[in-house]
Amino acid sequence: MEPDVLVIGAGAAGIAAARHLQALGRSVRLLEAGRRLGGRAWTEAAQLGAPFDHGASWIHVAERNPLTPIARRLGFTLRDERRRVRDILLWRGQVAGTAERAAHDAACEAWEAAAEAEDARRRAAGAPDIALAAAVPRDGPWDATVSHWFSDIISGVEAARFSLRDYVATALDGANLQLAEGFGTLVARLGEGLPTSFGSRVERLRWDGPGMVAEGGFGALRAGAAIVTVSTGVLAAGGLRFAPDLPAPVQAAIEGLPQGLLSKVALRAAGPGRLGLGDFARLGRSLDAPGDAPFSWLLWPWGRDHVIGFIGGAAAWALAREGTAAAEAAARAELARYVGAAEVARCLAPGAVVTGWAEDPLFLGAYSHARIGCHGARAALRDAELAGGRLRFAGEACHSRLAGTVGDAWESGERAAAAVHAALG
Ligand SMILES: Cc1cc2nc3c(=O)[nH]c(=O)nc-3n(C[C@H](O)[C@H](O)[C@H](O)COP(=O)(O)OP(=O)(O)OC[C@H]3O[C@@H](n4cnc5c(N)ncnc54)[C@H](O)[C@@H]3O)c2cc1C
Repeated sequence: MEPDVLVIGAGAAGIAAARHLQALGRSVRLLEAGRRLGGRAWTEAAQLGAPFDHGASWIHVAERNPLTPIARRLGFTLRDERRRVRDILLWRGQVAGTAERAAHDAACEAWEAAAEAEDARRRAAGAPDIALAAAVPRDGPWDATVSHWFSDIISGVEAARFSLRDYVATALDGANLQLAEGFGTLVARLGEGLPTSFGSRVERLRWDGPGMVAEGGFGALRAGAAIVTVSTGVLAAGGLRFAPDLPAPVQAAIEGLPQGLLSKVALRAAGPGRLGLGDFARLGRSLDAPGDAPFSWLLWPWGRDHVIGFIGGAAAWALAREGTAAAEAAARAELARYVGAAEVARCLAPGAVVTGWAEDPLFLGAYSHARIGCHGARAALRDAELAGGRLRFAGEACHSRLAGTVGDAWESGERAAAAVHAALG
């Protein structure tokens, strides 16, 4: 039977949209190209023998995140990131002392304050958007390191290519919670029981007739309305085409929100040796030369037998092109800076689990950022009402505040569901 609404993509946005539509009394079908629920929220335990989040792992801005009460209600084990652990910060190859740490923390605060102040000044003056890199301090000893952390690692893109306005509007604050069972486990659980067709890649969506028609290897499926939740990277690459073509402003919004990249490299313990560091320890270091791109580290989460290195921006894209052996070698070399190569070889088994979001044609990156001058693209995509409001977009790119998170994808899915429900009358 023809459903009221087709939801394309069974990640957080698609699951939230489908649940909300059902709650509103609408029939729905989720069309998912892959073989699992959750999209970029994916927990997998087979490779490391313990839950490992390939994608999202922190509930950001937990105080306002819609997933926080849901995770608590379902009994997930949550850990507040602000709980202190022993960590190491390297300054030019040496462990940073008290004064260097204080200088680092002050540089972080000054960096963020400068971005906010310049954005506010420009908005008040009606001045155009600029690159984040042009607004932040550059000459202090920690500035390049801080920029790399907030932009390349947290946002997946270099500050020189990132809209200042978008950075400030979507900067994450508040508490970050980790889930022992995995963030992907939570999102997949929320999608259980929804009418989902897996292995159903929508190649083309026709939206010029009285309803929507999704076409692909599965045939053609018709419905009164559709919500598209696939990543802006996939949309920009033509991984889902539209007939007729999308209006120019909608296409421009998609192209204004490219995917950045954050990759993870997980290494397994070889035995009881723990690199001399405890559970949840964090490691980070200063940039030592122009072009240097450090990993950030999380060790032995939940007492498990693995460590996770995070690398973002251009360095992550380069490693994705070079392959998993190069990523593993880079991660080992990075860890050796803290504990020495012999200790890395003694404590960590050969082999690595390397995430593959860049290469996967169903994602083509990690999460979106706005190009310089494209800070209005999120609202433009979120508010695009095609076919009398019966075709809407949702997903992490469509949120002006929490963009690039699971919480924002969830809220945008619910919002799009309410909108198509109203449009269907
Ligand atoms: C490495 C990494 C770390 C992250 N860390 C965090 C974090 O700590 N906290 C946080 O909140 N967020 C984090 N994120 C971001 C978060 O995972 C995403 O913002 C969110 O999951 C996106 O959900 P979505 O529903 O918008 O899109 P997706 O999850 O991409 O869902 C879209 C779905 O569409 C499917 N699809 C694609 N093309 C088609 C097609 N043609 N037809 C049918 N289906 C299709 C895909 O398979 C996918 O399942 C991280 C992401 C990555 C990659």
